[in-house]
Amino acid sequence: MRPTAVYNVFGGNIFGRMKNTKTKTKSKAANEVNTRIFVESGFGRVINELKKSNVFLVVDHNVYKCYSNELNFDIPKFVMKAGESNKTLQTVGDIITAMLEHKCNRKTRLIALGGGVVGDTAGFAAASFMRGTEWVSIPTTLLSQVDSGVGGKTGVNIGNRKNMAGAFWAPKKVIVSCDFLGTLPEREWLSGIGEVVKTAILDPAVWELVYKNRLLLDRHDPRLYERIVKACIDFKDKITKRDFREGGLRMILNLGHTVGHALESVDGYRLSHGEYVAWGILHELRINEELIEPSFLPQARELVGSVLCGRSDPYSKYDKLVVAKYMRSDKKNTGSKVTFVVPTDLGLTEVVEKNI
Ligand code: NAD
Ligand code: ZN
Repeated sequence: MRPTAVYNVFGGNIFGRMKNTKTKTKSKAANEVNTRIFVESGFGRVINELKKSNVFLVVDHNVYKCYSNELNFDIPKFVMKAGESNKTLQTVGDIITAMLEHKCNRKTRLIALGGGVVGDTAGFAAASFMRGTEWVSIPTTLLSQVDSGVGGKTGVNIGNRKNMAGAFWAPKKVIVSCDFLGTLPEREWLSGIGEVVKTAILDPAVWELVYKNRLLLDRHDPRLYERIVKACIDFKDKITKRDFREGGLRMILNLGHTVGHALESVDGYRLSHGEYVAWGILHELRINEELIEPSFLPQARELVGSVLCGRSDPYSKYDKLVVAKYMRSDKKNTGSKVTFVVPTDLGLTEVVEKNI
């Protein structure tokens, strides 16, 4: 089987044959992604940002409650309900209405403080308010710090269809403080770790740090996570700057998501997104094992296995044909074949289409 595209994360697209797509040139994408990123401990920079003039805060109830002491000052804000079911056009409308009530204008900077749900929803409100206002992303979950908070994909769900309305709208600034992770529930840790493992398998620099520390990941040591978050963000920022609008290279970030999304749907979203992604990576390694370097395959399996240790595999509960049907309905597919991201070796990734 010939791959649709082969990517070497050191050298970009070394052999791209994406059908009907074009990878943006580095300079054009970089113009759209003029984001300054800060990863540090403490809340100093966060509070400074919030105390600037003409800002508007969007936060969810949980984060607002956890950080009520830090946020105990006057600031125009919208506190949204927490959770995926509130990532809707209705919430975007409510945010914009609140901004108008607070006399916000085109120069207002929207600040999204929260996990991926707040970031995606508030980012889309920023892209829409008066045809686009600047925004600052302050991600507070591990998943949003290593993934959704960086990269400028914003959007909301339409009914039960994920991310069906949205915009590529890069934040001006991303401020990451790993101190926010101190209040993160256990389930959200595992969700973030799923995306950390995905990034490690794609990027040698993250691999170096994460594989070596794989047995320490569940200890949630803030110093280790600050290094991991920094490395993951560097990788995502590099990919985003080369291919902001997902013309090609950015697709590699979907590793584990072909099976992961199918499992989410078939299993009814019982587990966290990142846990489904981790199970997804494990099954995609199996499905595509003939394409993977024999010395790398067991190490990749070992890394994913170490974070899923003791958990039961959602895939094993369902008929394989039913899971395959969900995979075929994935929006990445172009025809009847299923698109997979295959880590053929450390730092080398292929995008392939397969009949399953
Ligand atoms: P989330 O935003 O729902 O947060 C998870 C839970 O943790 C929520 O209940 C939230 O209130 C709570 N929370 C957040 N920060 C906290 C903190 N510091 N302490 C205590 N509780 C806290 O979920 P998520 O996993 O951060 O994000 C998932 C969303 O991200 C999905 O909608 C997904 O589609 C999206 N996403 C977007 C991208 C992108 O590129 N835009 C990439 C991946 C995922
Ligand atoms: Zn994901």
